[in-house]
Amino acid sequence: MRRAIISDIHGNLHALEAVLGDIGREAVEDVVCLGDVVGYGAFPAECLALVRQHCSLVVCGNHDHAVGHDYLLEAYYDEARQSLEWTREALDDGERAYLAGLPLEHRTDWVTYVHASLPNPETWGYLEFSGDVVEHLKHQETPVCFIGHTHLPGVYSGDLTNFFEISWNARQRLPEGPLVVNVGSVGQPRDQDPRACYVIYDEMQGVISYRRVRYPIAEAQQAIREAGLAPFFADRLRVGI
Ligand code: ZN
Repeated sequence: MRRAIISDIHGNLHALEAVLGDIGREAVEDVVCLGDVVGYGAFPAECLALVRQHCSLVVCGNHDHAVGHDYLLEAYYDEARQSLEWTREALDDGERAYLAGLPLEHRTDWVTYVHASLPNPETWGYLEFSGDVVEHLKHQETPVCFIGHTHLPGVYSGDLTNFFEISWNARQRLPEGPLVVNVGSVGQPRDQDPRACYVIYDEMQGVISYRRVRYPIAEAQQAIREAGLAPFFADRLRVGI
């Protein structure tokens, strides 16, 4: 089965629509979302509706969690906190309850899906340093674990050395596990490539395709500015940081 795995949409409807269009052309049978459907972008409700329509599984991201619940947001810097408060207002009670009820982790025989890292998904730990990956892998019980959160696509095994060179939009055989596979970000890439990013994974073949998809960035930027969200969230989309 060819399965698309998307993450970190962040209310960027233009990017999500482009990715779903690409998925539609790629003979994909299933779509999984690794969370952060909302936050930063101007279209949280629209993105949430599309994700609910297309994805068989959605795990919870830190922005989904913060928007779905009512706790104080002091852990976030000012602009992010403002966007989360704006997003809480933009969603109705049912949408927020849906976000609050998302599972933190999902595991099959072969694959684990989690937004940030193991063993404590609810602390949203970043796999930023080699030691983070080593610690994560101690708790990974499947050959492959798909994550998002850093918005940096990459395949890791043992430490943060990126031993797997990604060829965009090509089918590549994955090396032996255990592997941590960061699928990148649909709506706010941070690897200096502004195109939307996601993966298609064929579990039986052990083959992955890292997809990059162009979308109308200027329209997403304009919507963020018009919504009164921090201009930085718009600016960064153009450069992919
Ligand atoms: Zn995110």
